[in-house]
Amino acid sequence: MEIRRDDTVIVLSGKDKGKKGKVLKAFPKEEKLIVAGVNVASRHRKPRNQQEEGGIIKMETPIYASKVQIVCPKCGKAVRVGHKRVTKTVSGKEKDVSVRICRKCGAEL
Ligand SMILES: [Zn+2]
Repeated sequence: MEIRRDDTVIVLSGKDKGKKGKVLKAFPKEEKLIVAGVNVASRHRKPRNQQEEGGIIKMETPIYASKVQIVCPKCGKAVRVGHKRVTKTVSGKEKDVSVRICRKCGAEL
C-alpha cells in the first residue's frame, strides 16, 4: 500500500467521491484507511437518564485504499505514486533508500 498516515487523499468513488481529507490511520494489511471527514457513520445515542442528552455521534469508518488517490502537496493534483532510489544520510551513514515521488511533478511525497 502506497498511502500512509498524514497523506492527503481524494476519494475516487462512492458517496464521498471528490472529498479530500487527511489520512488519520492506515491499515496496510487490510489495505484500508481512515480519512478525516470521509465515510462518516452516524450513530444515534439515546439518553440514558434525564441529565444526559441524546444525540448523534459521528465517526469515520475505514475505506479501501484503492478508492482513493494521493494528492501531491506540491502540484495539488491527484497523482499516481512513483518510486525513486536516492542516497540519504541516515544517522551518519549513506543509505540507498526508495522514496515515493509524484508522477506528475516529481516531488518527493
Ligand atoms: Zn506533484
